[in-house]
Amino acid sequence: MTIRPIEIQRTTAKKQKPDQQQLGFGLHFTDHMFIMDYSLTNGWHQPRIVPYQPISMDPAAKVLHYGQTIFEGLKAYKTSDGRILLFRPEKNLHRLNNSGRRLGIPPLDEEAALDALQQLVAVDADWIPSEPGTSLYIRPFVIATQPALGVDPSAHYQFIIILSPVGSYYPEGVNPVKIYVESHYVRAVKGGLGEAKTAGNYASGLKAQEAAKEKGYSQVLWLDGVHRTYIEEVGSMNVFFKMDGTVYTPALNGSILDGITRGSIIQLLQKWGIPVVEKTISIEEIYEAGRKGTLEEAFGTGTAAVISPIGELNWQDNKLVIHEGRTGELSAKLYDTLTGIQSGKVEDPFQWMVEVETRKLDSSPLV
Ligand SMILES: *Cc1c(COP(=O)(O)O)cnc(C)c1O
Repeated sequence: MTIRPIEIQRTTAKKQKPDQQQLGFGLHFTDHMFIMDYSLTNGWHQPRIVPYQPISMDPAAKVLHYGQTIFEGLKAYKTSDGRILLFRPEKNLHRLNNSGRRLGIPPLDEEAALDALQQLVAVDADWIPSEPGTSLYIRPFVIATQPALGVDPSAHYQFIIILSPVGSYYPEGVNPVKIYVESHYVRAVKGGLGEAKTAGNYASGLKAQEAAKEKGYSQVLWLDGVHRTYIEEVGSMNVFFKMDGTVYTPALNGSILDGITRGSIIQLLQKWGIPVVEKTISIEEIYEAGRKGTLEEAFGTGTAAVISPIGELNWQDNKLVIHEGRTGELSAKLYDTLTGIQSGKVEDPFQWMVEVETRKLDSSPLV
């Protein structure tokens, strides 16, 4: 793949790198960031890699008032032989454009955006941690920057990519989480923004999330916004249930985020010959299977944790313990396989991983 030269302004003050054992999530940021502008007259223009720095914007910038913004999240991994791998990055940039379409944000050239992302990762390659379970989290996002309070789509935008070295989600091994089934608040409705990765969806979930935490649950399972009956997804994860040998996940219905991990898990299960069904699933159905003893495992899927086994649900004060609160065999196998492929330790039969070229950068123009 040819890497198109973009302007690179290197930092003259490299930061000290954090301790790889204590990274946490999204707390540390690398030396550089990517930025590109959009205007009605010039379209997307002036792509550049610059030292990581605050952005200044007009207090009237539309994103601050009306939330016209979209984001993505993906990871870069360093293999034991020093290669840098991205997991299905083209899917993230495609989804970014899908989200943008819903929010009236002009589309990016996905190939050029992937180029830019790879160049940024290459510039900050020495920030990719190598301890087991660690990675470089990549956060591309678009914000509406036109200074105008009228409620209409912005005429100016910025596309920015920042990078954050992140720790292992499970420093002590994969651990089941307890999930609170939310019956009062809802995340999204069909026709709304549920399918888009956009800020407002997370702002609207914070209150329920905090209430669940107070009760001792780490995340919320959202039910549908009309009947509060059908399962949608968990916080920032899609959700799967294994019942009687078959794996079920809610069908993409217009209010659920189309997770890249979700799609990859479905492909893996199909390859292994394990029946997997996308359908409408009611919470009552899950409790019924729990009572009958046919609910074998449950897990969430997303970029941050990859697989998050669910050990307990609480729906209207009825607790349902799943797989005795321990990680199920299938959850563990999926976790090991997917993280193995991502870290380059396990063969990648689907050619999901994209290697970042670092050599070509040496000849790119320095500004
Ligand atoms: C990002 C996200 C997911 C998971 O998507 P992945 O592509 O697997 O990381 C699921 N649900 C919501 C609401 C999300 O924001």
